[in-house]
Amino acid sequence: MVNLIWFQNDLRIHDHAALYHATKANLPLVGFYARSFSHPNAKKSAKSALRKAYIDQTLLSLKTSLAVYNIPLIVVDGSAFNSLKILSESFAIQSIYGHYSASPFERYEAVKIQKEFDLKLYETETLIHPSDLGFDLQQVPQGFTSFRKKVEMNFQIRPLIETSLKPQEPLEIDEAFSPDLTPLLIQAGEQAGMDRVHHYLEGTKKIKTYKETRNGMLKFDDSTKFSFYLSIGALSPRYIYHRIKAFEAQFGGNESTYWVIFEMLWRDFFKFQERKHPKAFYAQTGLQHKSIAWLDNPHYYHAITTGQTGFPLVDANIKELLKTGYMSNRGRQNVASFWVKNAGLDWQLGERFFETHLLDYDVASNTGNWQYIAGIGNDFVPFRFFDIVKQGNTYDADTSYLLHYLPALKDVPVFKRYGFGHLSKDEREVYDIDYPAPIFSFYEGLNLMKKRYGE
Ligand SMILES: Cc1cc2nc3c(=O)[nH]c(=O)nc-3n(C[C@H](O)[C@H](O)[C@H](O)COP(=O)(O)OP(=O)(O)OC[C@H]3O[C@@H](n4cnc5c(N)ncnc54)[C@H](O)[C@@H]3O)c2cc1C
Repeated sequence: MVNLIWFQNDLRIHDHAALYHATKANLPLVGFYARSFSHPNAKKSAKSALRKAYIDQTLLSLKTSLAVYNIPLIVVDGSAFNSLKILSESFAIQSIYGHYSASPFERYEAVKIQKEFDLKLYETETLIHPSDLGFDLQQVPQGFTSFRKKVEMNFQIRPLIETSLKPQEPLEIDEAFSPDLTPLLIQAGEQAGMDRVHHYLEGTKKIKTYKETRNGMLKFDDSTKFSFYLSIGALSPRYIYHRIKAFEAQFGGNESTYWVIFEMLWRDFFKFQERKHPKAFYAQTGLQHKSIAWLDNPHYYHAITTGQTGFPLVDANIKELLKTGYMSNRGRQNVASFWVKNAGLDWQLGERFFETHLLDYDVASNTGNWQYIAGIGNDFVPFRFFDIVKQGNTYDADTSYLLHYLPALKDVPVFKRYGFGHLSKDEREVYDIDYPAPIFSFYEGLNLMKKRYGE
């Protein structure tokens, strides 16, 4: 008889409620991770080769950590429910310990498992434990600022859960696993996440200037890059919070150190929106129940997703995403705005495209942000859009980011690079460079979509 730890997006051993409770039960422990879901829509989800490699490498790191205690980690390609049924024929499972997720695929899986197994789920996803919000889930405000002010009135972050693991007797369990070790932009795993925190805090003290640099697109340390580790649960949000508090106590806090926590509240905000509105959060019409006539244009879709729109800020960001699996927050906002407000493509296609490629993909953050920018979620400004030329010139004034991904534009004067897609055909031809013509006129697309938004 064993107890199973069902790992999902909580691939770590620190601050892990399920692991903590499982160790109290005095039975051998077996780790378990399923790559797929049984939800009917799960087939639509695709993962890029980089994202698959990132998951594999995080799993490898977890497996190595668990092996110190002789806890095996079984990784299966199928869904958790189907695989557990098969596994339970080989050994008896007393209980399954896992983390609670409100996301549809995870929830669907948990409900199925719960019908046949003793499943115990614990809250570990958010910085603020849901019971510590200080108000009912239904009272979670629709706007971020109100949410932040409300939670900051009664801000309580729980201490880390300390699990005292001791090596158990080795188990005879087949845990064959061949991870994809393709080199990635970052090191994967819990230790690498902790190293990243150390680097950003005590190591370089970059956190002290985060607020000024966070909109940068080129330099790796412009922002924390904690999302890689938070999204897959290699780091717990509470771990980061308490490390920041310890840093502030030692080296002093400032607006920047606070701002990292402020940004992490956006992450909580979307997770609480997902819980409050489980259906509308995933519906095409979004939290605002707003129907928009999206364009069905495969040509636009292809141009955007291959970085060939002729609009440099969008193309550079897509090329970065395809090459590295990352895109800055500034890039994501501009690409998403261009996707829905200029090209008029369905936000859910964009959400799915990001899901495929982002190494830090997080279903609630991705969905919530896409809805926000599509103007059907938590942003109530009727038709907000990003001016991609102004944005490029503001956040990459010397165009070093742009040239990193689109070197062909080096022969164009700096002040015309971000506006290249806005130049006339004759003006563009003066430069004779290998860069695509714009797929449409920026303002034509915008005006069409304004009408479709009813503005
Ligand atoms: C269209 C769109 C899609 C997005 N998809 C994802 C996604 O799939 N996964 C994801 O983790 N983030 C997503 N974000 C949010 C944000 O862009 C990333 O969290 C951030 O760029 C990650 O880099 P970082 O860790 O260096 O961020 P930092 O600027 O260093 O921020 C620190 C942490 O705060 C959180 N955070 C910051 N901004 C946001 C935000 N707007 N929403 C939610 N959390 C935030 C993240 O956990 C991040 O790691 C998306 C944003 C947009 C506009």
